Amino acid sequence: MAETPPVVIVGAGIAGLTAALALARGGRRSVVLERADHLSEVGAGIQLSPNATRILIDLGLRPALEPLAVAPRELVIRDAAADRILAELPLGQGIETAYGAPYWVVHRGDLQGALLDAVRRDGRIDLALGCCIEGMVPTDDGVTVDAWIGSQRRHIVGDALIGADGVWSQTRVKLLGGKPARYSGRTAWRATIPAAQAGSVAIDRLTSTTGLWLGPSAHLVHYPVRAGRDLNIIAAVDDDWIDQRWDVLGDPADLVRAFTAWPAAVRDLLALPQAWRKWALCAVSEPRWTKGRVALIGDAAHAMLPFVAQGGAMAIEDAAVLATALARTDRSVEQRLKGWEAERRPRAMRVASSARDNASTYHLSGLPAKARNLVMQMLGPDRLLKRMDWIWGWKQAG
Ligand SMILES: Cc1cc2nc3c(=O)[nH]c(=O)nc-3n(C[C@H](O)[C@H](O)[C@H](O)COP(=O)(O)OP(=O)(O)OC[C@H]3O[C@@H](n4cnc5c(N)ncnc54)[C@H](O)[C@@H]3O)c2cc1C
Repeated sequence: MAETPPVVIVGAGIAGLTAALALARGGRRSVVLERADHLSEVGAGIQLSPNATRILIDLGLRPALEPLAVAPRELVIRDAAADRILAELPLGQGIETAYGAPYWVVHRGDLQGALLDAVRRDGRIDLALGCCIEGMVPTDDGVTVDAWIGSQRRHIVGDALIGADGVWSQTRVKLLGGKPARYSGRTAWRATIPAAQAGSVAIDRLTSTTGLWLGPSAHLVHYPVRAGRDLNIIAAVDDDWIDQRWDVLGDPADLVRAFTAWPAAVRDLLALPQAWRKWALCAVSEPRWTKGRVALIGDAAHAMLPFVAQGGAMAIEDAAVLATALARTDRSVEQRLKGWEAERRPRAMRVASSARDNASTYHLSGLPAKARNLVMQMLGPDRLLKRMDWIWGWKQAG
């Protein structure tokens, strides 16, 4: 009997690399086609909640990730206007005890490196960098993809095609007739600095906790990465700047202006990075993620605001559930993909909606901000943490 053709994955970001590893664990071959000549991540961090780390650990990545990750002791939420703490949510070992998997903060380069090493070691995964895809054609029993890889032209026959090509996905537009992403009217500024450089900043537990500051028209997040050697800073501001790139250098003067009325310690922190990169935040809401033997995963399907820190986690969940769905033998590939979409859509949509809710409550001012603060203080750390249960406690069925 002829061997089943590989699954073709377009894009080697978090979604594509995790999908390839999850498929390989089930014995499936894949070809991963990545546009970039070499994979390098922006100098920024990512929070990985237990729903995501559980999957990464199942894929065998704990030894590679743990030495580089930090499990912050707490999440400290502050009101910037009053410069005071609203809540301190215990994280650290307690999270692993409660959810069976850790809450880690890592540098994106470290996550990508761990995924990439595992992909390169796996003989079932054929990773091609520097790809220019010329054509993707769904057929009755699969897909064909024609691509230039450097100066070589390849014709690939696949069993299914996974579009993991991010927020500006061409797979979405070309094969599913989907729309381009929508700008959200918010920009994220990102920088990492050596933690030692932040020694003079008067923010308590700056290098051992995750900090979240809420303020008028902006919020700030900081946490340690690279085993605590570096500090990652993200400032999200309301504005109407639009650009498709991940790595545009921002003018620090613009950031200083947006945070003029913030506490001096925050302004001291924001003054430290030599370079800030900005990213116009976008969202994707597609009515369908599958068509025949084509499926979209990760940001290609449902890019969301990063205000519950879940876009990457949803990409990781998508990949794991998709690999399980494709391993079924009791139904056609088309039906397996449809079943996967039916399972994933309600959860990803609920998470995206929760991120939109945070987008409005985080940036409040005046009386509404006071009401928000009161609610947070009344709820207290335990109940605030409990509100994350449905996201962090997720486990793959079966
Ligand atoms: C400021 C900010 C903070 C965030 N913080 C968090 C967080 O703390 N936790 C969390 O879980 N998530 C977070 N996210 C979200 C997370 O970064 C994304 O959801 C995640 O990176 C999406 O991964 P992806 O693989 O779907 O897409 P991408 O990472 O965009 O990868 C897509 C890949 O496809 C490739 N590609 C594109 N087009 C083509 C093509 N035509 N042919 C071949 N290859 C192609 C690209 O080069 C890229 O390598 C944050 C996002 C932002 C903006």
